[in-house]
Amino acid sequence: MAKPEKDEVRMAAGQRYVCIGFEPWVTRSGENTTLAVWRTHCAECGRRFDFMYSTRTEKFAPSRRCSEHSRPGVQVGRKKRKRAPRKKK
Ligand SMILES: [Zn+2]
Repeated sequence: MAKPEKDEVRMAAGQRYVCIGFEPWVTRSGENTTLAVWRTHCAECGRRFDFMYSTRTEKFAPSRRCSEHSRPGVQVGRKKRKRAPRKKK
């Protein structure tokens, strides 16, 4: 994909993303690059969040959910079970 401009708006999967800036980034191979910082709203909870995305990938397929809801393997809405306190004799 072409490098985005600041304040550029993109639509992906029906969701609106706004480029709010850029961050310098060093890749695993030690290469200096720039990541675009995008702002959107979580598809799950509607909370606004920012995330960084490469400006050099061909396809713009960003996360649709905030960090809390994008965690793999974690179901949305699952609550931690409270352990029943052990009875002392
Ligand atoms: Zn969320």
